[in-house]
This record gives sequence, C-alpha cells and structure tokens, in this order.
Amino acid sequence: MNLKEAPQQERRLCRRCLMDSTVPGVRFDAAGVCNYCNIQDRLETMFPTGEAGKRILEKIAARIRRAGRGKPYDCVVGVSGGRDTSYCLYYAKEIMNLRPLAVHFDNGWDSDIAKMNLARVCDGLDVDLHTIIMDWPDSRELTNCTIRACVPYIDLTDDIGIASALYRTAAKENIRYILLSHSFREEGITPLAWNYMDARYTRSLIRRFARTKLNHFQNTDIHHFLYWILFKRISVVNITNYYDDVGEHVEKMLQERFGWVDTGQHHMDNELFSLVYYYARHKFGFDWRVVELSAKVRSGMLTQEEGLAAMAETPFFENEEMVDYCLKKQGMSREEFDAILQAPNLYFTDYPSYYPLLKRFRLFFKVLCRMNILPAHAYEKYFKAV
Ligand SMILES: [Zn+2]
Repeated sequence: MNLKEAPQQERRLCRRCLMDSTVPGVRFDAAGVCNYCNIQDRLETMFPTGEAGKRILEKIAARIRRAGRGKPYDCVVGVSGGRDTSYCLYYAKEIMNLRPLAVHFDNGWDSDIAKMNLARVCDGLDVDLHTIIMDWPDSRELTNCTIRACVPYIDLTDDIGIASALYRTAAKENIRYILLSHSFREEGITPLAWNYMDARYTRSLIRRFARTKLNHFQNTDIHHFLYWILFKRISVVNITNYYDDVGEHVEKMLQERFGWVDTGQHHMDNELFSLVYYYARHKFGFDWRVVELSAKVRSGMLTQEEGLAAMAETPFFENEEMVDYCLKKQGMSREEFDAILQAPNLYFTDYPSYYPLLKRFRLFFKVLCRMNILPAHAYEKYFKAV
C-alpha cells in the first residue's frame, strides 16, 4: 500500500460499482471488476440470507440464550437511534427471542431525533438502555487531534467509544455476546486508509496534537481485547449479515410501531458526520457516499447509472452553516480548519500504529473473525481493503 502515490493515469471506474482508481487500495481484475466488489461477493457466499440465513440465526439465538441462562441479559446490542441499530434491537428481542441490553455511546454529538428514537424504541420493546456519555472536553479535544493530524477520518472518538462501551458493559454484566448491525450489503467495506483505528495510533495522535489534557479518556488497547475475548469469552455477531430486511418497509415498521423518526441521512444520528464528510471531500477529494452507494449497486438495490447519478448530486453535507456550527462546537476557528484543509494529506501509516503487528498476526485475526469472535468483516477490511 503506497498512499503517497497519487494516481497519475486518468480515473478508471470499476465495471460494476462506483469505486474508481483514486480509491486507496483499489485493484481491478481481468474483467475490470474491483477488489471491493470481490470482497462483497465473498462475504455474500459466507453470509447467506433468506431461509439459510434464518436457520443460522436460529442456531446463533439458541447459543446466545444458553450462554445467558441464569443472567439478567443474554446479549448487548449497540444502538444509535438510527434505522439499522433500532431494527437490530427489534430483531434480537422479537424475532430471536433474546433478552438484550441496549448500549449507547454518546460523544456529545447525538441529534435530538436520535435521543428521542432511542427512548421510543427501547420503551416500546421494554428493553433496558445503558447510555455512556463521553466527557465533553475530552471528546472535543480527541476529535480536534484527528483533524490536526490531517488524516482522512476525524471521528475516532465515536469508533473507540462504541467499541469500549460495548465490551466494557458486556464484561461488567457478564454477557458473552455483542450484537452489531453493520451490513456489508448496504454499507460496504471502507478502504482501510480512510478509516483506521487502534490504541497505539490514537495515543500517538493525542501525544502530538492534544493542547489540553484528556482527563477521563480510556483507550482500548490490545490487552483489553485479549482479556475480553480470551478471559471473558465475549463474541461479536453481526446479525445483519444474515437477514435482508432493508429499505423503506423497515423504516415504515419502525415508524408505525415505535414512532421512530427518520434523520434524513444515514449516520446523521451523529451530527459530527456533517463535518466528517465535508472535511474528507474538501481535503482528500473523496466522497464517503461512494462506499455505501457502491455496496447498494453490488447488492442490486441501485443500478450503476443510478449510483453515478446519486454521486453527481450535491451532497447533503455541503452545508456551510452546519460546518460552522460543528467547528464552533469543536472550539476550532474556521481559519485553523481551512489551513488544515490546505496542509499536506496524511494517513494512519504516517503515524505509529499497531498495523505492522496486526499484519504479523493476520491469520490469528482471520480465525477470530471467522469464528464470529471479532466482527466478521473486520478481516476483509484490515487486510483486503488495502
Ligand atoms: Zn467494484
């Protein structure tokens, strides 16, 4: 992976999806189809939906119920108030007959709609909700560190916070299963260069760029994961991989049953995403929508032409008012932000990280993903989308 190498030749578009030669780590096979398409095809065969998926989910549910016997909860479900996590919670409770504990992490950017949705869905399902709120000065500073680092992804706070909240709650409550709702069919696999996190990388960004002390921030390091996985025997299951309940009828069900309200855009239960998307487009020239829209093209929800037409539309995050609002909340001046947009682009590979170590243990990592101990698509993301 050589991220410094700017694409010299003209943009080459994948024969099938919307990924092109400017995407880091993209490769094309003899038929002109990109490796992201091939990853998705492989995942399709590994994770069947329909009747086969249903049978697998029944087995998973039986296993989770067995592990939860005699305890107040069977599993932890990560929730944001968005469509996918709300539906995942409903599915766990009503279809899989599990006793979930909903866990939510708030880095200070929850929209009011997200908060309302969370309360409504959890009340409607009679599920306990455990919310972990990050100390706001710490959250703001950590996000500012990632912006000052000139790397593509600036919402590390949320990614670390969610993983930490889910595992720490599961460990504390003696729960062995964490259910997630990332759908490779709808959300795709993000190029690793665009979205990377690990504890060493986070520490290095804080060391170099923090201007205030982070007093309450808890990093999530490899030894924590080893403790949770090997000692507490916690597994992560992405149940969304086995069902194909997507699209408007899911939203309609959530609206009718719980009074759930659509935020209008995916990920907009977290308002910082306006800035995340705007920053990437203006600094790195990439548009986050390409990942999801490409996944939808591969899954047949959109044609390639429809996907390209959607990409040509002005994105919702081209909203200067919202950018100013986010920057004001972050305590960062527009001048500093604009200077960062103009500064040389950097990637996680420009900072110390555990990635070389992960590469050495990639087979171990693969086994953990295949055994549903780590999220199933994590291996593809860390070693195939580069
Ligand atoms: Zn493709």
